[in-house]
Amino acid sequence: MEYSDSDKRFMAAFSNGIKDIHVVSDGFSWNCPECLNNYDICCGHKGEHMYQNGEIVDKGSFSHNACDICGSKLGGNRFSAHGVLDTDHKEIVHLEVCVDCIMYMANGDLPEVWE
Ligand SMILES: [Zn+2]
Ligand SMILES: [Zn+2]
Repeated sequence: MEYSDSDKRFMAAFSNGIKDIHVVSDGFSWNCPECLNNYDICCGHKGEHMYQNGEIVDKGSFSHNACDICGSKLGGNRFSAHGVLDTDHKEIVHLEVCVDCIMYMANGDLPEVWE
């Protein structure tokens, strides 16, 4: 497979973005204070109940903030993801990442347009 310049720039930016992170997974995390805050569910059992029932779904939210992994500044939906900073998986970092990074993490799909 031939990679375009855009592909190569994306892959370089992606690997640079996760170089200090051991594991990245997308989606809501019950262990992440920032997620609890974003979803306004710090009210104990109700939030936990919703989480277990799959009622908390990250639909993404539109933002012009740079993606926390690839750094893309193209406006678009940002999704919650989490990285693990140490091998013990104790220290997690909340990330807001673009759909390009989500797709790339999920099945290696490269973005058609990336800046
Ligand atoms: Zn989070
Ligand atoms: Zn990204």
